[in-house]
Amino acid sequence: MTQHQVIKLSNVTKIYDTGTIKVKALRGVSLSIEQGDFVAIVGASGSGKSTLMNILGCLDVPTAGTYFLDGINVRHLTQYELAKIRNHKIGFVFQSYNLVPRTTALRNVELPLIYGSVKKKERHRIAMQSLKSVGLAKFAMNFPSELSGGMQQRVTIARAITTNPAMILADEPTGALDTVSSDRVMQIFSRLSLEGRTIVVITHESDVADYAKRVVEIRDGKILSDHRIVEVGEPPPKLRRVDRSANSPEKTNVS
Ligand code: ADP
Ligand code: MG
Repeated sequence: MTQHQVIKLSNVTKIYDTGTIKVKALRGVSLSIEQGDFVAIVGASGSGKSTLMNILGCLDVPTAGTYFLDGINVRHLTQYELAKIRNHKIGFVFQSYNLVPRTTALRNVELPLIYGSVKKKERHRIAMQSLKSVGLAKFAMNFPSELSGGMQQRVTIARAITTNPAMILADEPTGALDTVSSDRVMQIFSRLSLEGRTIVVITHESDVADYAKRVVEIRDGKILSDHRIVEVGEPPPKLRRVDRSANSPEKTNVS
């Protein structure tokens, strides 16, 4: 059975023109990711990961080549249509959390649904469900500043899944976290993967890549290797003791 391709990049290049020089950040990247896969894109600093992330996330467009996201060729879309696609198709998780301050965790998770004009009661229900699935239902009424870094990142994951996107796109999601919080966050991604979600994590940390079903290595703007660890339909490799990450009470000494 051929699976639905969530991502299909064909010979994508990206050249930054600084005015004085042209930087070839991506040099012909072809990459297909099917529904249900959990892919880590790894590479050293400067290899082109963020450039690739921006293209995958429809935050930037390729200089050449094509990108189909969930069957849609994004090349000819207007800014408005791109924004709409981002909101409906992609759940973003960034290293720096990007939560709205002085706004409760619940409200933060509800925000994508407000833009998507979902009715208030339904919005509340879905957002609570999302918070519950990252083990933070009890912290729904807390402000981001009252939560640890790891917990804030779990709020952003809840926010990322709230619109039921075609894929979750995470750029260095554990980059600002200690090892215990990192593990917890990656266990949550693993569990979301088990539920059938499509996940792309961009990272320079090899222990983060250990959680993925497939590891794509990028160097100097090109794909260097592409290893499948676990089949798409199989559980992700490091799925263990998930209940601990999802449901245990928070320890205050975890940052
Ligand atoms: P990574 O995320 O792997 O560190 P990037 O995608 O950020 O890599 O960068 C890839 C290459 O493109 C680097 O050489 C970087 O200096 C260059 N680059 C990234 N963004 C820009 C930009 N806006 N203008 C010019 N060069 C850029
Ligand atoms: Mg980067």
